[in-house]
Amino acid sequence: AKEAGRGQFHFYTEAMNRHTQAKLALENSLHNALERDEFVVYYQPQASLLSGRLVGAEALIRWRHPERGLVMPDEFIPIAEENGLILPIGEWVLRQVCRQIRAWLGDGLPPLTIAVNLSARQFRQEDLVERIRGIVEEFAVDPACIELEITESTAMEQADITVELFRALRAAGFCIAIDDFGTGYSSLSYLRRFPVDRLKIDRSFVLDIADDPNDAAIAHAVIKMAASLGLKVVAEGVETDAQRQFLQERGCDYLQGYWYGKPMDAEAFAAFVRTALGK
Ligand code: C2E
Ligand code: CA
Ligand code: CA
Ligand code: CA
Repeated sequence: AKEAGRGQFHFYTEAMNRHTQAKLALENSLHNALERDEFVVYYQPQASLLSGRLVGAEALIRWRHPERGLVMPDEFIPIAEENGLILPIGEWVLRQVCRQIRAWLGDGLPPLTIAVNLSARQFRQEDLVERIRGIVEEFAVDPACIELEITESTAMEQADITVELFRALRAAGFCIAIDDFGTGYSSLSYLRRFPVDRLKIDRSFVLDIADDPNDAAIAHAVIKMAASLGLKVVAEGVETDAQRQFLQERGCDYLQGYWYGKPMDAEAFAAFVRTALGK
């Protein structure tokens, strides 16, 4: 038993080392990814549940890794958040989105609202508001075309400062959404004080919405509460028609999910928009 125990320990550390080494290798190549121009922004369409029409998209980063192929954000955003690279990466995403909005307008596409994720570190930058204002001005993009997504847990950390920041961002013309709503611990009193435009119901509640009475009750409660506060609700991760129907019947405003469209590169998204709008 002792032998086996030691063997297992050995195995465990080796597995750990492999994991740590893989993470280190990824972190190393992450340092050069920006200058090597390896990131790409995908766009996932959002639609109105009432009219069925396309209303905008969320910008989602991917990493075209020279050896590993397309790396998903869940694999590198947490590392970038830890080592601070998220600051230049986050600004690159916003800049890329603004550049793309300009290009689409030039190509005759109608103005759409594009949601951009702001990480916790970005959100805590002293000069956040000036920085992002500077970027949209650089491309002469209307801030109203940009929706900034902040997760519920980031917003609730230092909620008083959040209220001030949201005010300043909205005064500058940006839209604000609370992301991953339902996974943090918002108190209703704070939610009332947050000057935001939309709540995004986390995918984990949408998943079993049509089968699990608890998730259904939570989603329904969020929709009703948001309506009473004058906020719009976006349901994330809608994959099935049953989910869509449930949300529509309960007055959810918008949906985002594979049912309507997967995240796609800028070119595919432009084609999607033209088809959706019949142009
Ligand atoms: P998120 O902000 O909650 O983004 C939604 C995620 O759900 C995206 O994953 C999207 O592809 C996925 N999704 C949407 N609809 C469906 C569906 O119907 N089914 C399933 N299974 N998944 C769906 P993605 O693109 O892998 O991004 C993961 C997370 O990485 C994001 O979660 C966000 O937290 C982070 N992220 C992505 N891009 C950025 C960025 O530019 N900046 C920052 N700070 N974080 C980002
Ligand atoms: Ca998001
Ligand atoms: Ca989300
Ligand atoms: Ca999420």
